[in-house]
Amino acid sequence: MGEFSQFYRDYMQSAAWRTYRRQVLTRDKGRCRQCRRRGPVDVHHLTYERLGHERLADCITLCPTCHAARHSHMHQPHAAASGMGCLVLLVAVVLGLVVLFLASRQPSHPSVRPVAPKSAVPRR
Ligand SMILES: [Zn+2]
Ligand SMILES: [Zn+2]
Repeated sequence: MGEFSQFYRDYMQSAAWRTYRRQVLTRDKGRCRQCRRRGPVDVHHLTYERLGHERLADCITLCPTCHAARHSHMHQPHAAASGMGCLVLLVAVVLGLVVLFLASRQPSHPSVRPVAPKSAVPRR
């Protein structure tokens, strides 16, 4: 990751990036692709797969607001994962409580046994 960000930082300073960036801005007419707002805009990578030799489709123009929104759930896999983990844990706890509640309502001695379905046995 260190090498990547170093390369990324250098690339952002390069003439190649500036040329590419201008192409993206021209294609999107300098407007945010999400909310169509004009004004200060950023060029956002949809993929870093071809960083340094991007295709025109690899980046889009976004205003700072939409850009920040994208990054809040795109480039922070750890935050997203832990948030998801909390939700899963909460659901598991609630389900566990429901199961406990249902179990406590049932008769303690299992007198009713599941009857084997006789129709499943082929007749002769
Ligand atoms: Zn926007
Ligand atoms: Zn971005």
